Amino acid sequence: MVLFRIVTKVIPPNSTIGIFGSGQLGRMFAIEAAKLGYRVHTLSPGRDTSTGQVCGLETAAAYDDLFEVRTFAQSVDVVTFEFENVPSATIDAAAEFVSVHPRGAVLHTTQNRLREKTFLAENGFPLAGFRRIRTIEDLFKGVEDLGLPAVLKTAGFGYDGKGQTRINAHSEIEEAFDRLEGREAVLEQFISFEREVSVVCARRADGAFAHYGVIENEHVDHILDVSMSHADVPPNVAAEAVEIARSVAETFGYVGTLCIEFFLAANGRLLVNEIAPRPHNSGHLTFDACVASQFEQQVRAVCGLPLGSTEFYRPAAMANLLGDVWEGGEPNWTAALEEPSVKLHLYGKAEPRRGRKMGHLTAMADTPAEAARIVRKARERLTKPLTTDGQG
Ligand code: AMP
Repeated sequence: MVLFRIVTKVIPPNSTIGIFGSGQLGRMFAIEAAKLGYRVHTLSPGRDTSTGQVCGLETAAAYDDLFEVRTFAQSVDVVTFEFENVPSATIDAAAEFVSVHPRGAVLHTTQNRLREKTFLAENGFPLAGFRRIRTIEDLFKGVEDLGLPAVLKTAGFGYDGKGQTRINAHSEIEEAFDRLEGREAVLEQFISFEREVSVVCARRADGAFAHYGVIENEHVDHILDVSMSHADVPPNVAAEAVEIARSVAETFGYVGTLCIEFFLAANGRLLVNEIAPRPHNSGHLTFDACVASQFEQQVRAVCGLPLGSTEFYRPAAMANLLGDVWEGGEPNWTAALEEPSVKLHLYGKAEPRRGRKMGHLTAMADTPAEAARIVRKARERLTKPLTTDGQG
């Protein structure tokens, strides 16, 4: 019998990791990479970005500027990304010089809802019924097949509910179609879920796998609002969610951190909603609450180091801070941090806009529900009027 062993190439500390994308995920990745002694170089169209502010080098270039992409790839030892809508040609150009993790093919599948859902369905993963929509006839037929209510989503470039329309009645079909403005779309059954959960996990090239259990997520206006560790789901549901995540990672031959978002239907059935081929907002609580955060796992996986422990020090929760918090002026940081167990993370974004993710708060407590209560209260205190000396 011949035994094959996948030899994982180790990129040692003090090497340079290149990252496509420059948002908060890249920022937290770069912070963890720096702790491990790596240098990080980011490429994105922006300047003074969330990631660039904490990186050794920031290249401001369009993703389709393949000259800049090749120059960037030659300056680093390995490439990863924090933003999945990087064009395939960009990944291919970088891959001429260095390894890119996760692979370009994973990105290609997950950056388009139709390709992602087709991948999930073909590999037997559970998901809501869906149809490809290109014409108004497709949409009428899709509604006939799937029933109402249903959700129409653009196939590409959709996140946080952008490009989504819920169709409740036949009279709304044409208007929903017009809103697509010619873009390809997916019609999906509306799931009246009991709750939303996610599994954040990491896989190394040799198949080593680590996960943070099941995280429970509450959304407001389609945007993640609060996440809690140790979701209160039956053990068989938790085991199934982790097994699906492991199996998706395995099927992709995935290298890096990955998140699978699920709907948990009232009958206890899990349905995959979305795959994020990168660290995910619902895993931000691992930054403070776990031995190795989701960002550290990404560094370890792409550099071929052993994965770290996903053990939680204590149950934890995270509350997002959207630009809305700034609507009444500068938030009251002093009041929010009155509770010493609350940790504040801000992403260095100068312009607070409605719905824009500006930062988050985390806390640990004896139970996830108590941690969630603490972060919600702290967030409420952010909008408490300042005293005349600008204090809480
Ligand atoms: P998405 O960008 O597809 O993850 O959607 C954002 C949020 O919209 C989800 O987390 C859900 O809260 C809601 N949503 C999306 N699709 C559906 C669906 N088919 N049924 C019910 N709620 C949905």
